[in-house]
Amino acid sequence: MSEQSEQILPKNKLRLLVDGKLPLEDIHALLRMPVKDHDRFWKYLEVLQERVSWKERILVRVSEHLYVVEKGAERIVKCDCGQEFGDYRINWKLSSLVYARKTAEEFDEIFTTPNKPNPEFVEIREFYCPGCMAQLGVEAVPSGYPFLFEVLPDIDTLYEWEGRPLKSASKEWYVDLTATQTEKWAKEEGK
Ligand SMILES: [Zn+2]
Repeated sequence: MSEQSEQILPKNKLRLLVDGKLPLEDIHALLRMPVKDHDRFWKYLEVLQERVSWKERILVRVSEHLYVVEKGAERIVKCDCGQEFGDYRINWKLSSLVYARKTAEEFDEIFTTPNKPNPEFVEIREFYCPGCMAQLGVEAVPSGYPFLFEVLPDIDTLYEWEGRPLKSASKEWYVDLTATQTEKWAKEEGK
């Protein structure tokens, strides 16, 4: 079974795919495969784990640089550089460096076309990792709008689907706790 899977999607090809370097014809061949290997998710995680220097187990990838990892009894967001962003149920953007563009001049730095948003109504926020300064995300939202929380993965359901439920599975995990953090800050500010 596993040998056959190796033939279906060799790990070296999966590595190239993850790095965005797999030739297009190979990607098309993968998409056309009538039977996809059952352990692709686990192989994908293995490839991700090989690429980082830290030891915490990767549970899911959130974006190009960010992962939810298991750290002791916690599930936290971690950058590939090692920077940690705390409990994954709290929007990681709260722990990032934020650069908000609010003026026409600031918009001009990134828009080269005449078609650009109106700074009276919209602000553009760029989020950076405090550890490696990688750009982790960009959002264009109405001015003053709360940070968008793009991904709160339902990790336990995913692992159950894939046939290997996590030992730490609990209903407590799939809950957005972002407001608890902002409330805490609001209280601290009020003191
Ligand atoms: Zn980083």
